[in-house]
Amino acid sequence: SNLIEVDVLIIGAGPSGCVAAAYLNKKGIQVKVVEKSKFPRFVIGESLLPKCMEHFEEAGLLHVLENHGFEIKRGARFLRDDIVCNFDFSKKHTPGWDWTWQVPRADFDNLLATEIQKQGVDLSFEHEVIDTDINDEGVSITRIKDENGEEYTVKAQYIIDSSGYGRVLPRLLGLDKPSAIPEHSSMFTHVKDIKRPEGEEGTLITFDVLDRDTWFWVIPFSNGDTSIGFVGKTELIESYEGNMKDMLKLSKYYHKRFEGVDFKFEPISIKNYAKSVTQLFGKGYILTGNSAEFLDPVFSSGVTFATESALKAAKLIDKALNNQEVNWQVEYSDYIMKGVEVFATYVKEWYTGNLQTLFFHRPENPDIKKQICAVLAGYVWDESNPFVKKHDRLVKNLAHLIHMNAEENN
Ligand code: FAD
Repeated sequence: SNLIEVDVLIIGAGPSGCVAAAYLNKKGIQVKVVEKSKFPRFVIGESLLPKCMEHFEEAGLLHVLENHGFEIKRGARFLRDDIVCNFDFSKKHTPGWDWTWQVPRADFDNLLATEIQKQGVDLSFEHEVIDTDINDEGVSITRIKDENGEEYTVKAQYIIDSSGYGRVLPRLLGLDKPSAIPEHSSMFTHVKDIKRPEGEEGTLITFDVLDRDTWFWVIPFSNGDTSIGFVGKTELIESYEGNMKDMLKLSKYYHKRFEGVDFKFEPISIKNYAKSVTQLFGKGYILTGNSAEFLDPVFSSGVTFATESALKAAKLIDKALNNQEVNWQVEYSDYIMKGVEVFATYVKEWYTGNLQTLFFHRPENPDIKKQICAVLAGYVWDESNPFVKKHDRLVKNLAHLIHMNAEENN
């Protein structure tokens, strides 16, 4: 018949779905992954954080990524006018990975998906989740449409929703909630980077801060292409729609490098991208990655959050299926929200300007810098870091001190 039974159904084969699937599969748990599109497929989210290397390693996926030759990312550079703020991940408060990659996601995600198939995971491309029905025990029957338009159903003990921008369960179960992050939008493309300078300058990830609300990203890939994109208030992005070439003039630093170069595809806009949900789990289901929460691209936290939440969800499902007690509220939701809240503070304080005050204040304080660097490397669960533990006050208070001193000196 057209009913398949598994322990865990995973929706989406992005980094979140692949990490969850690989981990559960290693534990001998029967998973099925359904992915709506055909890979390789484009998705935005190209600058990774060192913390996510731990997740790929633990899921048994790191070796395939290592062999590919992605551009290595050892830090991040922020520019504002003539001031440069360079973060070096080898100088950070929290021990752990001090590098990662900057990746074209079509290639990156395809490597992950191909590898989980090799490891024995049942993954179907061009299979789209249409609807689901979850009973009081948490057992779900999910309707899926395959590549020929035929429908079948999957019965599962757990659903992991890793559908990213698809937001499958938030939509089907009515879990969407407005985000507390101010409304920003983005426009981006890839270019053939024919004027890329030699050496480090050519390969550095850079955030060029144009004004408090507006910034420009430059993410060079090892294949010679570079991702470029603007983030700003929705009205500003809309005013340049269809005209990204003109918008490039806003970046004094990069204008010449990207003037006249070919776009690899029509610029894409994503508007009011911040997303949130009323709950991260329910009986029989868990939301991971972008399907759960998306804040802002300014600190490149998206993929790392996607893999952190996926690994956590997979571990807890493994526990539960082995008849151990799981407190989903404490072990999943509260844990994940702790990290989300740290990043949320940094995003908010970026757009109030307070964090920018700290980044571009001179002289720099090396201790503070190391602590902020650990946050920017994704180590947002390390409470020995004052910039994690007191995130809600420290950035604001320090920026306030800097402003007071500046006034006194005037
Ligand atoms: P995805 O990678 O989106 O994967 C979800 C998969 O689910 C997709 O392949 C999709 O086809 C599939 N799917 C959807 N609906 C269905 C369905 N009904 N049935 C079956 N399958 C389905 N993050 C970073 O880490 N670094 C960055 O530099 C960065 N920059 C960003 C810039 C912008 C402008 C924006 C908006 C986001 C950025 N992000 C960045 C965030 C990043 O895009 C996401 O956080 C990341 O892709 C999340 O991964 P995921 O696995 O949760 O979802």
